[in-house]
Amino acid sequence: MVDDLLSRKEKHPPPAAATIAKAVKQHAEWEDEHQEERHVPRVPADGYFVLTFDDGPHPLGTSLILESLERFNCKATFFFLGAEVEKYKDLCQQTAKLGHEIGIHGWMHTRVERLTTTENIRMLTRTLDTIKTVTGADVRYVRPPYGRLNESFLVAAESLDLIVTGWDVSSDDWRSLSKPDIIKNLASEGVNEKVILFHDAAGDPLITTEALEWLLRSSSEFGLKGISLSECSALRTLPSLKPMDIKRWLSAM
Ligand SMILES: [Zn+2]
Repeated sequence: MVDDLLSRKEKHPPPAAATIAKAVKQHAEWEDEHQEERHVPRVPADGYFVLTFDDGPHPLGTSLILESLERFNCKATFFFLGAEVEKYKDLCQQTAKLGHEIGIHGWMHTRVERLTTTENIRMLTRTLDTIKTVTGADVRYVRPPYGRLNESFLVAAESLDLIVTGWDVSSDDWRSLSKPDIIKNLASEGVNEKVILFHDAAGDPLITTEALEWLLRSSSEFGLKGISLSECSALRTLPSLKPMDIKRWLSAM
């Protein structure tokens, strides 16, 4: 056995010092030739961002946003209000049919931290059932109005297997900012691997859509892909929302 190994070793001697030196030289020459390529800035091929829209569906806002997303082949997540889903069933169905994800914002745009667990369960179930009946889609995520919640809301959401989700970057479009100001908000925070908050039924829908188009155009130039929250959840921990200190909040009113 040992003899066998020794004889094989002799047949394949280690490379001589001259051979190693030659290989090192060749590698250095290759590095010089390709230096320019190595300094070209590269965006990771798997770069992504998540677009989320609160407050819809809205006949103008949601329609404009759906058109833009379609043009750039981008999928997003919409946090809808149950009462508006009931009013604009076609729009809600169109959103789901185009492959976007639908989450819950609430039945109406009310402050859920003022509701008991039972009231929250009733409100969420009604919204969940309405979205399910209209679209047939499964709902996984919930984001309460203003991102405000208390322990009662968390318990209610968990009992219905809903995941409470916040955001990393806010466009602040609901403040009716100008397009450059919305762009400034997004650019200063950066969007790669971030969950971004927009609104399809607050602020100026035309300005929101123009800012959104800027984001879609520039991100596609950099090779970033817009994905849904479900797809993102396989890549990173989603931004959460913490229960607020209700006493501090009441004293600030
Ligand atoms: Zn809202």
